[in-house]
Amino acid sequence: MHSDTFDSHAMAIYPELLEVRHDLFDNPESSGKEERTARVVANYLKKLGLEVKTNIGGHGVVGVLKGAKPGKTVMWRADMDAATFRMGAHGHQGLSHICGHDFNTTIALGIANTLSQDVDNLAGTVVFLFQPAEESQQGAKAMIADGLFEMLAVDEVYASHIGPSATGVISTKTGNLFSHSRYLEIELNGTDAAESIASDVHKIMNGLTRVSSPKLFFDLNNAMSLTHGLANPNTIYQDYVFFAGPPQVSTNNSRTVLFAELYTANKGDIDATVSGLKKQLDRREYRDRVHAVRVSHVRQGVDNDARLVDQAKQLLLARFGDQVLETYYGQVPFASEDFGHFQTRVPGVYFFIGASNAGKGIVSFPHMPNFNVDEKVIRLGVTRFSTLLYSRLKTD
Ligand SMILES: [Zn+2]
Repeated sequence: MHSDTFDSHAMAIYPELLEVRHDLFDNPESSGKEERTARVVANYLKKLGLEVKTNIGGHGVVGVLKGAKPGKTVMWRADMDAATFRMGAHGHQGLSHICGHDFNTTIALGIANTLSQDVDNLAGTVVFLFQPAEESQQGAKAMIADGLFEMLAVDEVYASHIGPSATGVISTKTGNLFSHSRYLEIELNGTDAAESIASDVHKIMNGLTRVSSPKLFFDLNNAMSLTHGLANPNTIYQDYVFFAGPPQVSTNNSRTVLFAELYTANKGDIDATVSGLKKQLDRREYRDRVHAVRVSHVRQGVDNDARLVDQAKQLLLARFGDQVLETYYGQVPFASEDFGHFQTRVPGVYFFIGASNAGKGIVSFPHMPNFNVDEKVIRLGVTRFSTLLYSRLKTD
């Protein structure tokens, strides 16, 4: 089997995969409630003849494809949940696949279909993992806690997510792909002057902020800019420290809590920023009211293995040419991913696969209000990632 065979197979199953994708899109389920999606996935995998396990860490599904020949075990992860968003300024909460997980899931099913066609020549095992609750950052943790890695000995783990590049272009980088983020809570005794203290804390936070070209930086459309976006070696997204908006104020009984989210490109900047903040608070006239400064780590982020990134890039280049591949030099701000939990156990790589089509006016930037996807990404994703996984089984 080689990439041409994979491509003609991906073409043949494309109509069927489109139906799956439309079905998932029409039936979005929020984090932790992916019951129907999990059922669709499990049924599809069973029909292919895979060994299927369900209800792992919630609605998590695993399909095991065992090749006839011995070899290592490679895992492919897709996320299944839809995302909630506000409709209009005062609107209700909407629920939709505005992060493209319907595509991530469909592509994974397509890869499973493709690789299961020639089990006799498959050396090793491919595990297809369908994760619930990515948006809430709970699903990966929950599947691991439920014994995922006791059930399966996995050598490498991969994932792909819809990204904003042109259809079929695969982007990644070594190390951290997303910003580091922390939740900060400043607890104050008393409820007096809460708003004015919050606005002073906001000033402190602004003083600790370090971004190049703030105007460009905070307009996320620039993440794709050729001159300063993520794929440019001089990107403005490789050295930054910022807080997402002014602190949110809540008061209860005799306490005031200021809440803020901190994002940094480099891990070392987290401690430095928090201690800078504490130092400034110490100099304020309200310092005696500061009861506690709490920092919590909510997101694991993504930490791509350097050797596996290099090998994947070489393979994709050799098979599909350099227009298929894009290297990121910066860390995606604001967004995050809980795929990193798997990478704390097993080395792996997280990819974006682009699905924007300028000619059709399609911009596939997840969570943006105009998010849309060029469906051709299904066929391209299935071909390219089937090729990658097939060759991973043959590589040490
Ligand atoms: Zn997503």
